Amino acid sequence: MGQGIEGNHSGYPRTDKPPIVDPAAFRLAQKAFTKSLMEHPQTKVYADYGTAAMTRMANGFGGLPTRNFSSGQFEEADRISGEFLRQVILERGGEGEPTHACMPGCTIRCSNNYADSKGTSLVSPLEYETIG
Ligand code: SF4
Repeated sequence: MGQGIEGNHSGYPRTDKPPIVDPAAFRLAQKAFTKSLMEHPQTKVYADYGTAAMTRMANGFGGLPTRNFSSGQFEEADRISGEFLRQVILERGGEGEPTHACMPGCTIRCSNNYADSKGTSLVSPLEYETIG
């Protein structure tokens, strides 16, 4: 039994969001969640070093996908770590940003913009999928 383009098993059309039953309560919960997220120490780490902050840790416990998952450790991991990327990006300046939000409203801001030696944006954000 397939799903039609206009519906799914929830009963709502695929293009519609489910209705918010109590918008005021939803906004309160949203505010509380954002506040606790912003106050969490790991959020500060991501805001400073991006998702690449996890590179050294993942490499340390053998969980950094390397050479098509044939190894969990990469001998050059320090050179793709969040700490190293941040240093290079800040030194180069220009369009580079050690972290930014890849979509409006994101409070984590774990993405980045890596620039070349002239400060011109060089590559799409370096994140887990491209680092690991
Ligand atoms: S939306 Fe982008 S910047 Fe925000 S947490 Fe997800 S990957 Fe990171």
